[in-house]
Amino acid sequence: MTTSPRTLSLSRTARSLIAVFALGWTLLLAAADRDYGLSPLRIADDTWVLVGRSEDFSLTNGGNIVNTAFIVTAKGVVVIDSGPSRAYGEQLKRAIARITDKPVSLVLNTHHHPDHFLGNQAFAPDTLAALPATIKSIHSEGGSLNENMYRLAGDWMAGTEPVAPARPLAAGPLEMGGHRLELIALDGHTEADLVILDRSTGVLFAGDLVFNGRTPTTPHADLQHWQAALDQLEKTPFTTLVPGHGPVARDAGPIRQTKASSIRAVSFNATVPVASTFSRSTGILNASAGMYAKRSPPEPRRFLSSMAKAMALRRSITLGSFSLRGTR
Ligand SMILES: [Zn+2]
Repeated sequence: MTTSPRTLSLSRTARSLIAVFALGWTLLLAAADRDYGLSPLRIADDTWVLVGRSEDFSLTNGGNIVNTAFIVTAKGVVVIDSGPSRAYGEQLKRAIARITDKPVSLVLNTHHHPDHFLGNQAFAPDTLAALPATIKSIHSEGGSLNENMYRLAGDWMAGTEPVAPARPLAAGPLEMGGHRLELIALDGHTEADLVILDRSTGVLFAGDLVFNGRTPTTPHADLQHWQAALDQLEKTPFTTLVPGHGPVARDAGPIRQTKASSIRAVSFNATVPVASTFSRSTGILNASAGMYAKRSPPEPRRFLSSMAKAMALRRSITLGSFSLRGTR
């Protein structure tokens, strides 16, 4: 039997369509398959932490380098930071639901960095709260921070939009379903850094004022203010310390470690702008705001990986005993 040119042509078209359909389906499945593998770690009564990876943002980790946490109280769950993407927020909510049937009644954003608030979309808008300056910064910078996260984390960010909390917080005591929380308003890592002390359990949630075993990031930092905040945290009585990045600690070691890094940074910054970033391995001094600087237009996908590495390199001042490569 012979095949007419028309039949051949149709058959080629059909094959192409099938190939396109299969590719589209594969991509969809890949997007739906993004699993952060969130596994809550119980660190005190009613208190759980999702410890992020000790890495920089990448297309592999989807931005999960941050610590988020939640406290199960009699009046609902208090979430501390919502993670780097909508998918993370949704998976965090499911992880909470595996532990308690209580609803999430309060989501606190410690500050306006993207890995701490871009999961907000997953939670009811009236549960979202932050310090006033944090809310303002999410309104003004949320869009560009979100764009940068798309470039660094790729498909993991699908559907993510910045959502600013509507509820401004004031410093002071907050009683939540049997937990005596203290909201402490500090600054230095950013213009507004919320610290939460749970006096009932002794857990101190320090946000990014404290990094444990990781290079502190400084794109919005005021290093003198940061030092003052760390002085105050060192005097705060706690039994368990949850840093913004790095492992949970039982003593003030990570506070002293972050302070030592900042002291070096202050002397370094005596001659350069505070927001500068410097790589000792390459000798590159970047006087703009590192990874948080708005970049446009979007780079082609094939450059994402190398760009993520380059941005990670510029991400932090590299300091003393910390990694001199600045890429972790
Ligand atoms: Zn931060």
